[in-house]
Amino acid sequence: MVRAIVGANWGDEGKGKITDMLAKESDIIVRFQGGSNAGHTIINNYGKFALHLLPSGVFYDHTTSIIGNGVALNIPYLINEIDSIVERGVPKPHILVSDRAQILMPYHVLFDTYEEARLAGKSFGSTKSGIAPFYSDKYAKIGIQVSELFDEAVLKEKIEGICETKNVLLEHLYHKPLLDPAELFETCCQYRDMIEPYVCDVSAYLYDGIRAGKTILLEGQLGSLKDPDHGIYPMVTSSSTLAAYGAIGAGIPPYEIKDIITVVKAYSSAVGAGAFVSEIFGEEADELRRRGGDGGEFGATTGRPRRMGWFDAVATRYGCRIQGATEVAFTVLDVLGYLKEIPVCIGYEIDGEVTKDFPATIKLEKAKPVLTTLPGWNCDIRGIKKYEDLPENCKNYIEFVEKEIGVRISMVSNGPGRDDIIMR
Ligand code: GDP
Repeated sequence: MVRAIVGANWGDEGKGKITDMLAKESDIIVRFQGGSNAGHTIINNYGKFALHLLPSGVFYDHTTSIIGNGVALNIPYLINEIDSIVERGVPKPHILVSDRAQILMPYHVLFDTYEEARLAGKSFGSTKSGIAPFYSDKYAKIGIQVSELFDEAVLKEKIEGICETKNVLLEHLYHKPLLDPAELFETCCQYRDMIEPYVCDVSAYLYDGIRAGKTILLEGQLGSLKDPDHGIYPMVTSSSTLAAYGAIGAGIPPYEIKDIITVVKAYSSAVGAGAFVSEIFGEEADELRRRGGDGGEFGATTGRPRRMGWFDAVATRYGCRIQGATEVAFTVLDVLGYLKEIPVCIGYEIDGEVTKDFPATIKLEKAKPVLTTLPGWNCDIRGIKKYEDLPENCKNYIEFVEKEIGVRISMVSNGPGRDDIIMR
């Protein structure tokens, strides 16, 4: 049985927490896209962790954690992340890395940094983790696959070719030091030795796992609105954030994904540039940011303050539809407990017309939010375990959102911890 856990919004919905929680009853957890550019915050009996590349299931000793072929694999980053959790008392996790995953190289980080600097005020707000240059190279067919690390002749020739084109850009566009093929080859040899113990034919492993009736979780990074095709292009990430891509990025048949748990946040937050219709500013935003998530809404990778907004029913309904949500986990609801009234965005006004359909970016940039206001519950709901025990106005908020998005809310998260969950 394969379940995907993905985001309906701009990321930071709390997928890490839901994955960590569901990993308890799972055998295998797979990252299928993205890289170390976004973080998942997880709080459990070992402490508080910000994971970037490891799947959020690494805290149990019965699980296997997999880096699928769709991931941007930063090898030293992965090894450091493994070491850092082991140092804090987590049992050494069982980790497998796809032999078809491609390697994020130091020059991807450099190109990301140089390009953001070149674009200056028009930059994408990249985390400078090398993700866009990595995926560009993958599709330009000059990426390096894990399996290629083990063939020195192939590797040498490939690196020569890479340096030829990259060095033209470094010299003439960025005016930066050139790449040295010998040095890159040396780096790749070090990477090979670091990754060797983990390398596996992941799709074959998962195929056997599915046939043996294992429970498999696919953990997505970011959310629907950051998908390069269906999100707010070009202010998106460079790999698909959708459950459908889970099949490709893990290497399993699409029909095996039976359940798509789509994580929806009770208010909105976003990092990076791009249209954000229900965005709020000033003191109103500062207060929500300060109270949001667990200890404030600041990027897990960069520490940047996140942009804040009210719940956006238009974006979220679309985000759920494009994920193919079969159920919704509604998160960080406890954070809204300070409000007497809660604004919610229920439509977009574009050129004088109100719509409930999420448009392509060019139109989205003209959209103004149509807001309605729901009564708040104005109390702390942390610690509540049963849906019936929630305040009336809180249940009304949940049921209003459920109706707007058209997907059953099966879980309500009312705190950052593993056990802060209400099953419905
Ligand atoms: P992810 O990338 O989707 O895994 O999300 P992040 O980990 O970046 O952001 C979620 C943040 O909210 C983290 O700091 C979590 O600890 C926290 N969090 C998750 N669920 C809840 C919740 O229900 N209530 C509160 N207060 N915080 C939560």
